[in-house]
Amino acid sequence: MPGVIIKSKGNKGEGNMRSIGVLTSGGDSPGMNAAVRAVVRCGIEKGLTVYGIHRGYEGLIDGEIEEMDRNSVGDILQRGGTILKTARSERFKTEEGLKRALTMLDTFGIEGLIVIGGDGSMRGAETISKRGIPVMVLPGTIDNDLGYTDYTIGFDTAVTTVLDAISKLRDTSSSHERTTVIEVMGRHCGDIALYAGLTGGAEYILIPEYPYDINELCKKIVVSTNRGKQHNIIIKAEGVDISSADLAAKIQEKTGRETKVVVLSYLQRGGSPTMRDRMLATLCGAKAVDLLCEGSGSKAIGTTDNHIVAYDLDQALEIKPVFNKEIYDLIGVLGK
Ligand code: ADP
Repeated sequence: MPGVIIKSKGNKGEGNMRSIGVLTSGGDSPGMNAAVRAVVRCGIEKGLTVYGIHRGYEGLIDGEIEEMDRNSVGDILQRGGTILKTARSERFKTEEGLKRALTMLDTFGIEGLIVIGGDGSMRGAETISKRGIPVMVLPGTIDNDLGYTDYTIGFDTAVTTVLDAISKLRDTSSSHERTTVIEVMGRHCGDIALYAGLTGGAEYILIPEYPYDINELCKKIVVSTNRGKQHNIIIKAEGVDISSADLAAKIQEKTGRETKVVVLSYLQRGGSPTMRDRMLATLCGAKAVDLLCEGSGSKAIGTTDNHIVAYDLDQALEIKPVFNKEIYDLIGVLGK
Protein backbone atom coordinates (compact mmCIF):
# COMPACT_ATOMS: atom_id res chain seq x y z
CA MET A 1 0.00 0.00 0.00
CA PRO A 2 1.36 3.46 -0.82
CA GLY A 3 2.20 5.80 2.05
CA VAL A 4 -0.89 7.06 3.76
CA ILE A 5 -0.51 10.58 5.00
CA ILE A 6 -3.21 11.92 7.24
CA LYS A 7 -3.17 15.69 7.40
CA SER A 8 -5.30 17.95 9.50
CA LYS A 9 -8.03 19.69 7.54
CA GLY A 10 -6.64 22.74 5.77
CA ASN A 11 -8.23 26.07 5.10
CA LYS A 12 -11.49 26.05 3.24
CA GLY A 13 -11.32 26.53 -0.55
CA GLU A 14 -13.31 29.17 -2.39
CA GLY A 15 -16.59 27.47 -1.49
CA ASN A 16 -17.16 25.21 1.46
CA MET A 17 -14.83 22.48 0.25
CA ARG A 18 -11.59 21.89 2.08
CA SER A 19 -10.44 18.47 0.89
CA ILE A 20 -11.17 16.51 -2.24
CA GLY A 21 -10.13 13.09 -3.51
CA VAL A 22 -9.46 11.89 -7.03
CA LEU A 23 -9.47 8.31 -8.33
CA THR A 24 -9.34 6.46 -11.65
CA SER A 25 -11.58 3.45 -12.08
CA GLY A 26 -12.51 0.70 -14.57
CA GLY A 27 -10.55 0.31 -17.80
CA ASP A 28 -7.59 2.68 -18.11
CA SER A 29 -7.45 5.20 -20.93
CA PRO A 30 -4.80 7.57 -22.25
CA GLY A 31 -5.41 11.02 -20.79
CA MET A 32 -6.36 9.86 -17.30
CA ASN A 33 -3.03 11.22 -16.06
CA ALA A 34 -3.65 14.57 -17.70
CA ALA A 35 -6.99 14.70 -15.86
CA VAL A 36 -5.39 13.81 -12.51
CA ARG A 37 -2.76 16.50 -13.04
CA ALA A 38 -5.40 19.14 -13.78
CA VAL A 39 -7.48 18.15 -10.74
CA VAL A 40 -4.51 18.21 -8.37
CA ARG A 41 -3.03 21.48 -9.56
CA CYS A 42 -6.35 23.33 -9.92
CA GLY A 43 -7.42 22.04 -6.52
CA ILE A 44 -4.25 23.22 -4.83
CA GLU A 45 -4.58 26.57 -6.59
CA LYS A 46 -7.98 26.93 -4.94
CA GLY A 47 -6.58 26.20 -1.51
CA LEU A 48 -7.85 22.62 -1.29
CA THR A 49 -6.09 19.59 0.11
CA VAL A 50 -6.13 17.03 -2.71
CA TYR A 51 -5.88 13.32 -2.02
CA GLY A 52 -5.00 10.72 -4.63
CA ILE A 53 -6.89 7.47 -4.10
CA HIS A 54 -5.11 4.45 -5.56
CA ARG A 55 -6.74 1.52 -7.37
CA GLY A 56 -10.19 3.02 -7.81
CA TYR A 57 -13.03 2.09 -5.45
CA GLU A 58 -11.03 -0.91 -4.26
CA GLY A 59 -8.29 1.38 -2.93
CA LEU A 60 -10.87 3.72 -1.45
CA ILE A 61 -12.29 0.87 0.61
CA ASP A 62 -8.79 -0.06 1.79
CA GLY A 63 -7.69 3.51 2.49
CA GLU A 64 -4.96 3.59 -0.13
CA ILE A 65 -4.99 7.34 -0.02
CA GLU A 66 -2.20 9.91 -0.06
CA GLU A 67 -2.03 13.64 -0.21
CA MET A 68 -0.87 14.98 -3.56
CA ASP A 69 1.18 18.08 -4.21
CA ARG A 70 2.07 19.87 -7.43
CA ASN A 71 5.19 17.75 -7.84
CA SER A 72 3.39 14.44 -7.44
CA VAL A 73 1.74 15.03 -10.81
CA GLY A 74 4.89 16.31 -12.53
CA ASP A 75 5.94 14.65 -15.80
CA ILE A 76 2.74 12.64 -16.21
CA LEU A 77 0.84 14.76 -18.75
CA GLN A 78 2.30 12.83 -21.67
CA ARG A 79 2.04 9.38 -20.13
CA GLY A 80 -0.67 6.82 -20.93
CA GLY A 81 -2.20 4.67 -18.20
CA THR A 82 -2.84 6.14 -14.77
CA ILE A 83 -0.35 6.84 -12.00
CA LEU A 84 -3.16 6.27 -9.50
CA LYS A 85 -3.65 2.73 -10.89
CA THR A 86 -7.11 1.47 -11.63
CA ALA A 87 -9.20 -1.50 -10.59
CA ARG A 88 -12.58 -3.11 -10.72
CA SER A 89 -14.17 -3.63 -7.34
CA GLU A 90 -16.92 -6.14 -6.65
CA ARG A 91 -16.73 -5.28 -2.93
CA PHE A 92 -17.74 -1.70 -3.69
CA LYS A 93 -21.01 -2.91 -5.19
CA THR A 94 -22.07 -4.35 -1.84
CA GLU A 95 -23.65 -2.28 0.93
CA GLU A 96 -20.79 -3.21 3.24
CA GLY A 97 -18.18 -2.13 0.67
CA LEU A 98 -19.96 1.16 0.03
CA LYS A 99 -20.14 1.83 3.78
CA ARG A 100 -16.40 1.18 4.14
CA ALA A 101 -15.71 3.56 1.26
CA LEU A 102 -17.84 6.28 2.88
CA THR A 103 -16.16 5.73 6.23
CA MET A 104 -12.76 6.09 4.59
CA LEU A 105 -13.81 9.39 2.97
CA ASP A 106 -14.91 10.60 6.40
CA THR A 107 -11.68 9.42 8.05
CA PHE A 108 -9.60 11.45 5.62
CA GLY A 109 -11.99 14.40 5.72
CA ILE A 110 -12.61 14.13 1.97
CA GLU A 111 -15.68 16.24 1.24
CA GLY A 112 -15.87 15.89 -2.51
CA LEU A 113 -14.73 13.22 -4.94
CA ILE A 114 -13.61 13.23 -8.58
CA VAL A 115 -13.98 9.91 -10.39
CA ILE A 116 -12.35 9.35 -13.77
CA GLY A 117 -13.80 6.30 -15.52
CA GLY A 118 -16.50 4.81 -17.73
CA ASP A 119 -20.19 4.12 -17.26
CA GLY A 120 -19.66 1.53 -14.51
CA SER A 121 -17.55 3.99 -12.56
CA MET A 122 -20.28 6.60 -13.01
CA ARG A 123 -22.85 4.21 -11.54
CA GLY A 124 -20.50 3.73 -8.61
CA ALA A 125 -20.17 7.50 -8.27
CA GLU A 126 -23.95 7.81 -8.16
CA THR A 127 -24.16 5.45 -5.18
CA ILE A 128 -21.68 7.63 -3.26
CA SER A 129 -23.48 10.79 -4.32
CA LYS A 130 -26.78 9.41 -3.01
CA ARG A 131 -25.14 9.16 0.43
CA GLY A 132 -24.45 12.89 0.45
CA ILE A 133 -20.92 13.23 -0.94
CA PRO A 134 -20.70 15.36 -4.10
CA VAL A 135 -18.97 13.46 -6.91
CA MET A 136 -17.74 14.78 -10.25
CA VAL A 137 -17.32 12.18 -13.00
CA LEU A 138 -14.89 12.61 -15.88
CA PRO A 139 -15.47 10.36 -18.92
CA GLY A 140 -12.32 8.23 -18.89
CA THR A 141 -12.74 5.41 -21.41
CA ILE A 142 -11.43 4.65 -24.88
CA ASP A 143 -14.82 3.30 -26.00
CA ASN A 144 -16.65 6.62 -26.53
CA ASP A 145 -19.75 4.89 -25.21
CA LEU A 146 -21.11 7.64 -22.94
CA GLY A 147 -24.06 9.38 -24.58
CA TYR A 148 -23.87 12.63 -22.62
CA THR A 149 -20.50 13.61 -24.10
CA ASP A 150 -19.44 13.87 -27.75
CA TYR A 151 -16.07 12.33 -26.90
CA THR A 152 -14.52 10.47 -23.99
CA ILE A 153 -10.97 10.86 -22.69
CA GLY A 154 -8.77 8.30 -24.47
CA PHE A 155 -10.95 7.71 -27.53
CA ASP A 156 -8.93 9.95 -29.84
CA THR A 157 -5.66 8.29 -28.81
CA ALA A 158 -7.11 4.81 -29.26
CA VAL A 159 -8.34 5.63 -32.76
CA THR A 160 -4.95 7.13 -33.59
CA THR A 161 -3.31 3.87 -32.46
CA VAL A 162 -5.68 1.87 -34.67
CA LEU A 163 -4.88 4.16 -37.61
CA ASP A 164 -1.19 3.53 -37.14
CA ALA A 165 -1.84 -0.22 -37.17
CA ILE A 166 -4.04 0.06 -40.28
CA SER A 167 -1.29 1.92 -42.16
CA LYS A 168 1.24 -0.77 -41.34
CA LEU A 169 -1.13 -3.62 -42.12
CA ARG A 170 -2.10 -1.95 -45.39
CA ASP A 171 1.53 -2.11 -46.55
CA THR A 172 1.83 -5.83 -46.00
CA SER A 173 -1.74 -6.49 -47.08
CA SER A 174 -1.07 -4.79 -50.46
CA SER A 175 2.22 -6.59 -50.98
CA HIS A 176 0.56 -9.96 -50.53
CA GLU A 177 -2.73 -8.90 -52.12
CA ARG A 178 -4.70 -10.21 -49.21
CA THR A 179 -7.62 -9.25 -47.01
CA THR A 180 -6.98 -8.32 -43.40
CA VAL A 181 -9.57 -8.42 -40.63
CA ILE A 182 -8.58 -6.03 -37.84
CA GLU A 183 -10.40 -6.52 -34.55
CA VAL A 184 -10.71 -3.40 -32.41
CA MET A 185 -12.18 -2.76 -28.96
CA GLY A 186 -15.86 -1.96 -28.49
CA ARG A 187 -18.25 -4.41 -26.85
CA HIS A 188 -21.44 -2.40 -27.21
CA CYS A 189 -20.27 0.73 -28.97
CA GLY A 190 -18.59 0.54 -32.38
CA ASP A 191 -17.15 4.06 -32.39
CA ILE A 192 -13.50 2.97 -32.52
CA ALA A 193 -14.28 0.84 -35.58
CA LEU A 194 -16.44 3.60 -37.07
CA TYR A 195 -13.96 6.45 -36.73
CA ALA A 196 -10.88 4.35 -37.57
CA GLY A 197 -12.79 2.81 -40.47
CA LEU A 198 -13.61 6.17 -42.02
CA THR A 199 -10.26 7.85 -41.42
CA GLY A 200 -8.18 4.72 -42.12
CA GLY A 201 -9.94 3.89 -45.39
CA ALA A 202 -11.44 0.53 -44.43
CA GLU A 203 -13.50 -1.28 -47.05
CA TYR A 204 -16.08 -2.58 -44.57
CA ILE A 205 -16.74 -2.33 -40.87
CA LEU A 206 -18.72 -4.57 -38.54
CA ILE A 207 -20.09 -2.95 -35.41
CA PRO A 208 -22.53 -4.05 -32.70
CA GLU A 209 -25.07 -1.34 -33.57
CA TYR A 210 -25.76 -2.37 -37.15
CA PRO A 211 -26.38 -5.66 -38.95
CA TYR A 212 -23.69 -6.98 -41.27
CA ASP A 213 -24.06 -9.00 -44.43
CA ILE A 214 -21.23 -11.41 -45.17
CA ASN A 215 -22.31 -11.97 -48.76
CA GLU A 216 -22.38 -8.24 -49.43
CA LEU A 217 -18.96 -7.91 -47.80
CA CYS A 218 -17.49 -10.76 -49.87
CA LYS A 219 -19.07 -9.53 -53.08
CA LYS A 220 -17.47 -6.16 -52.44
CA ILE A 221 -14.08 -7.78 -52.04
CA VAL A 222 -14.42 -9.84 -55.23
CA VAL A 223 -15.68 -6.90 -57.31
CA SER A 224 -12.99 -4.52 -56.07
CA THR A 225 -10.27 -7.14 -56.51
CA ASN A 226 -11.33 -7.72 -60.11
CA ARG A 227 -11.16 -3.97 -60.59
CA GLY A 228 -7.54 -4.01 -59.44
CA LYS A 229 -7.74 -3.31 -55.70
CA GLN A 230 -4.72 -4.88 -54.00
CA HIS A 231 -5.93 -5.19 -50.45
CA ASN A 232 -9.03 -5.06 -48.33
CA ILE A 233 -9.14 -3.83 -44.76
CA ILE A 234 -12.11 -5.06 -42.73
CA ILE A 235 -12.53 -3.62 -39.23
CA LYS A 236 -14.59 -5.57 -36.73
CA ALA A 237 -15.52 -4.35 -33.25
CA GLU A 238 -15.04 -7.03 -30.60
CA GLY A 239 -18.73 -6.99 -29.59
CA VAL A 240 -19.99 -8.21 -32.99
CA ASP A 241 -21.52 -11.68 -32.73
CA ILE A 242 -18.97 -13.49 -34.89
CA SER A 243 -15.39 -14.21 -33.90
CA SER A 244 -12.68 -12.63 -36.03
CA ALA A 245 -11.28 -16.09 -36.83
CA ASP A 246 -14.68 -17.32 -38.08
CA LEU A 247 -15.20 -14.13 -40.04
CA ALA A 248 -11.79 -14.46 -41.75
CA ALA A 249 -12.42 -18.14 -42.53
CA LYS A 250 -15.77 -17.29 -44.14
CA ILE A 251 -14.28 -14.44 -46.16
CA GLN A 252 -11.44 -16.66 -47.37
CA GLU A 253 -13.85 -19.43 -48.31
CA LYS A 254 -16.30 -17.15 -50.12
CA THR A 255 -13.78 -14.91 -51.93
CA GLY A 256 -10.95 -17.36 -52.49
CA ARG A 257 -8.56 -14.69 -51.21
CA GLU A 258 -6.11 -15.19 -48.40
CA THR A 259 -7.50 -13.52 -45.26
CA LYS A 260 -5.54 -12.78 -42.09
CA VAL A 261 -6.69 -11.66 -38.65
CA VAL A 262 -5.03 -9.11 -36.39
CA VAL A 263 -6.50 -8.49 -32.94
CA LEU A 264 -5.23 -5.17 -31.61
CA SER A 265 -6.55 -5.75 -28.10
CA TYR A 266 -4.82 -3.88 -25.24
CA LEU A 267 -2.48 -2.06 -27.60
CA GLN A 268 -5.38 0.35 -28.00
CA ARG A 269 -5.33 1.30 -24.32
CA GLY A 270 -1.72 2.44 -24.21
CA GLY A 271 0.37 5.27 -25.54
CA SER A 272 0.88 8.95 -25.04
CA PRO A 273 -2.43 10.83 -25.22
CA THR A 274 -3.09 12.99 -28.26
CA MET A 275 -3.58 16.75 -28.02
CA ARG A 276 -7.37 16.26 -28.13
CA ASP A 277 -7.35 13.83 -25.20
CA ARG A 278 -5.01 15.98 -23.14
CA MET A 279 -7.17 19.01 -23.84
CA LEU A 280 -10.43 17.25 -22.95
CA ALA A 281 -8.92 15.72 -19.80
CA THR A 282 -7.44 19.00 -18.67
CA LEU A 283 -10.55 21.10 -19.29
CA CYS A 284 -12.82 18.51 -17.63
CA GLY A 285 -10.47 18.21 -14.64
CA ALA A 286 -10.38 21.97 -14.13
CA LYS A 287 -14.17 22.20 -14.47
CA ALA A 288 -14.68 19.40 -11.95
CA VAL A 289 -12.71 21.31 -9.32
CA ASP A 290 -14.60 24.53 -10.08
CA LEU A 291 -17.97 22.83 -9.74
CA LEU A 292 -17.04 21.11 -6.49
CA CYS A 293 -15.91 24.41 -5.04
CA GLU A 294 -19.09 26.12 -6.22
CA GLY A 295 -21.14 23.51 -4.40
CA SER A 296 -23.02 22.41 -7.51
CA GLY A 297 -23.73 18.88 -6.30
CA SER A 298 -22.72 15.83 -8.35
CA LYS A 299 -22.15 16.11 -12.09
CA ALA A 300 -20.89 14.20 -15.10
CA ILE A 301 -18.57 16.43 -17.09
CA GLY A 302 -18.00 16.10 -20.81
CA THR A 303 -18.04 17.98 -24.08
CA THR A 304 -20.73 18.97 -26.56
CA ASP A 305 -19.94 20.97 -29.72
CA ASN A 306 -16.53 21.91 -28.32
CA HIS A 307 -17.91 23.22 -25.04
CA ILE A 308 -17.44 21.67 -21.62
CA VAL A 309 -20.80 20.53 -20.27
CA ALA A 310 -22.01 19.14 -16.93
CA TYR A 311 -25.06 16.96 -16.38
CA ASP A 312 -26.66 15.58 -13.25
CA LEU A 313 -25.49 11.98 -12.88
CA ASP A 314 -28.91 10.38 -13.31
CA GLN A 315 -29.49 12.45 -16.43
CA ALA A 316 -26.08 11.57 -17.86
CA LEU A 317 -26.63 7.87 -17.24
CA GLU A 318 -29.91 7.98 -19.15
CA ILE A 319 -28.53 9.52 -22.32
CA LYS A 320 -27.73 6.69 -24.71
CA PRO A 321 -24.94 7.02 -27.26
CA VAL A 322 -26.23 7.78 -30.74
CA PHE A 323 -24.90 5.63 -33.57
CA ASN A 324 -23.66 7.81 -36.44
CA LYS A 325 -25.19 6.15 -39.51
CA GLU A 326 -23.86 8.90 -41.78
CA ILE A 327 -20.29 7.87 -41.04
CA TYR A 328 -21.20 4.22 -41.54
CA ASP A 329 -22.76 4.93 -44.95
CA LEU A 330 -19.82 7.07 -46.02
CA ILE A 331 -17.42 4.20 -45.30
CA GLY A 332 -19.53 2.09 -47.66
CA VAL A 333 -19.28 4.71 -50.40
CA LEU A 334 -15.57 5.46 -50.02
CA GLY A 335 -14.50 1.86 -49.54
CA LYS A 336 -16.09 0.54 -52.77
P1 ADP B 1 -15.90 1.33 -16.45
O1 ADP B 1 -15.99 2.43 -15.46
O2 ADP B 1 -14.68 1.44 -17.33
O3 ADP B 1 -17.19 1.16 -17.22
P2 ADP B 1 -16.59 -1.02 -14.83
O4 ADP B 1 -17.90 -1.20 -15.50
O5 ADP B 1 -15.77 -2.23 -14.58
O6 ADP B 1 -15.62 -0.02 -15.66
O7 ADP B 1 -16.86 -0.27 -13.45
C1 ADP B 1 -15.79 0.08 -12.59
C2 ADP B 1 -16.20 -0.13 -11.16
O8 ADP B 1 -17.31 0.71 -10.85
C3 ADP B 1 -16.69 -1.53 -10.83
O9 ADP B 1 -15.66 -2.44 -10.59
C4 ADP B 1 -17.51 -1.27 -9.57
O10 ADP B 1 -16.69 -1.16 -8.44
C5 ADP B 1 -18.12 0.10 -9.86
N1 ADP B 1 -19.49 -0.10 -10.36
C6 ADP B 1 -19.87 -0.50 -11.59
N2 ADP B 1 -21.22 -0.61 -11.69
C7 ADP B 1 -21.70 -0.29 -10.47
C8 ADP B 1 -23.02 -0.20 -9.90
N3 ADP B 1 -24.11 -0.48 -10.61
N4 ADP B 1 -23.12 0.16 -8.60
C9 ADP B 1 -22.04 0.45 -7.87
N5 ADP B 1 -20.78 0.40 -8.34
C10 ADP B 1 -20.60 0.04 -9.61
